[in-house]
Amino acid sequence: LFITVEGVDGAGKSTPLAWLTEQLKAIGHSVVLTREPGGTPLGERLRDLLLHEKMDLETETLLMFASRREHIAQVIVPALARGDILISDRFTDATYAYQGGGRGVSLTKIEQLEAWVQHDLQPDLTLLFDVPLEVAQARLAKGRDSLDKFEQESMDFFVRTREAYLARAAADPSRIAIIDSTGTFEHTRTQIRTALAQHLNM
Ligand code: C5P
Repeated sequence: LFITVEGVDGAGKSTPLAWLTEQLKAIGHSVVLTREPGGTPLGERLRDLLLHEKMDLETETLLMFASRREHIAQVIVPALARGDILISDRFTDATYAYQGGGRGVSLTKIEQLEAWVQHDLQPDLTLLFDVPLEVAQARLAKGRDSLDKFEQESMDFFVRTREAYLARAAADPSRIAIIDSTGTFEHTRTQIRTALAQHLNM
């Protein structure tokens, strides 16, 4: 099983992600938790560049997919072949949301790169953590010592990014479950349990 976790910065995905991983391990699954950009030694070097260097937006998109290709080849495909559950903290929906929605890279270009790099690999389930942007911004301001390049973007950027995420969820509801993470952790957990039951029969 291939599960991805998405959301704008500050949506609060880290605590539920750790919880979900432990839950699945507790019921006997072998779980691999990775992230994008990153997830491999080369991918982590690309992540460092992506998060801290200024670059052309198409360069940024290509490096995201370079990191993704390495992640797929070295980690995701082998884990799925072993029968593990692979959970990735962000995947291609983030490129549609951030580079596409946020920065305005054409969707056609992203689709072409997606087809090239992924063939028909798609997550079985994507949990999209969603909160109003004021909540996300407040969480970011409180929870981070320093903000990376993306986290310092304007409110408009996050409005476009969130809208792009929500549009993808609306277009593909059988894969993408929206988790409203505004409320308590208990409320978030309940929604995750429901999503696993509905989408994966777990
Ligand atoms: O989720 P995480 O904080 O690890 O993501 C690292 C940064 O990279 C975030 O600020 C995220 O918004 C950004 N990012 C991006 N485009 C992607 C994936 C991540 O701008 N495709």
